[in-house]
Amino acid sequence: TNPVFTGIDTTVFETMSRLAMAHGAVNLGQGFPDVDGPQDIRQAAADALMAGPNQYPPMLGVPELRQAVADANKRFYGIDVDPQSEVLVTSGATEALADCILALVSPGDEVVLIEPLYDCYLPLVKRAGGVPVRVRVTPPEWALDRNALEAAFSDKTKAVLLNNPMNPTAKVFSEGELQLIADLCRKHDAYAICDEVYEHLVFDGRAHRPLMTFEGMRERTVRIGSAGKTFSLTGWKVGYVTGPAALMDPIAKAHQWVTFTTPPNLQKAVAYGLGKDDGYYQGLAQDLTAKRDRMARGLAALGFSVLPCAATYFLTCGIDGLGLGETDVEACETLVTRAGVAAVPVSAFYGSEPPRGYIRFCFCKRDEVIDEALDRLSVFL
Ligand code: PMP
Ligand code: GLN
Repeated sequence: TNPVFTGIDTTVFETMSRLAMAHGAVNLGQGFPDVDGPQDIRQAAADALMAGPNQYPPMLGVPELRQAVADANKRFYGIDVDPQSEVLVTSGATEALADCILALVSPGDEVVLIEPLYDCYLPLVKRAGGVPVRVRVTPPEWALDRNALEAAFSDKTKAVLLNNPMNPTAKVFSEGELQLIADLCRKHDAYAICDEVYEHLVFDGRAHRPLMTFEGMRERTVRIGSAGKTFSLTGWKVGYVTGPAALMDPIAKAHQWVTFTTPPNLQKAVAYGLGKDDGYYQGLAQDLTAKRDRMARGLAALGFSVLPCAATYFLTCGIDGLGLGETDVEACETLVTRAGVAAVPVSAFYGSEPPRGYIRFCFCKRDEVIDEALDRLSVFL
């Protein structure tokens, strides 16, 4: 009999959400907002659900959304994008990542990854036959080491997979770091697969700068976004990829065998959403900044070592001295079962030999939910 493949683990987000539900815990593990995104966007989806379209949309995405993605690239980053040949709509950024890796990585190709890494990266690269080459950034600054990155690139490098802004570190890569990555991509003729799902969740006056905007990168970079993050509608699973036609063509071919399409009514609503005024995007970042500060203050007062958070909706904290267990996994088990608060162990974002003293809390929750979690932690600690 053929043995089944057992090399893919259950994602930590599913594991922790199940535990949170089983123990009635406040779920600050898996990253999702507890208030749905704008009502007008949901109304647009409801209208499109009733009026249609409800049949297979074009494989690349409905024209309105491809146009809206192209317009957003111009509006936010000054990138000129042809909506016909340079945009693909996917069922979430996760599918976009799978499509890009399936299309661009062949067996034996090396892929440079920055660790900690979002949890689907390693399994996807490995299942495509790629050889992951990991470069580690370390807390509290999570700075990229020039020598380590240079050493990771070689003539076997096919692509770098970059998550900026970065989950779970909440880091925004500096101009200097991005320039270094761009220089190495050009030097080694490598592609860049840029997971930029947190592009609009950037705080304290910082601006997101896509790697694609660096000199010589337009023709070798694909950029992934997610309506789930931008509009607080994570269950919709609408993502989009922008890139040069020569790369989008094989990526679209991968997409046709993975999902072929994404629900057309949701695509229409996201097209509408991307056109929202600057006030929406500023408001999103402002709301999250206040939540970040509320949770960071509370956690720090309880003895957590809260690391800086420039973006995303995650706070990573050191847990040394809190007596929560030997490892971050044990600490999260303790917290979910005994304190009634779910977090995620940061070791889940490493391929091997992870640091063990950090856990991640998600802060895109209503103030009263943040306060309830802090109360529970304070009673327990
Ligand atoms: N990339 C990163 C870095 C993420 O944190 C997430 C989480 N949602 C995704 C991709 C997946 O996005 P989507 O839900 O659109 O598939
Ligand atoms: N991106 C979310 C997180 O980091 C989880 C998404 C998922 O559950 N697949 O928590």
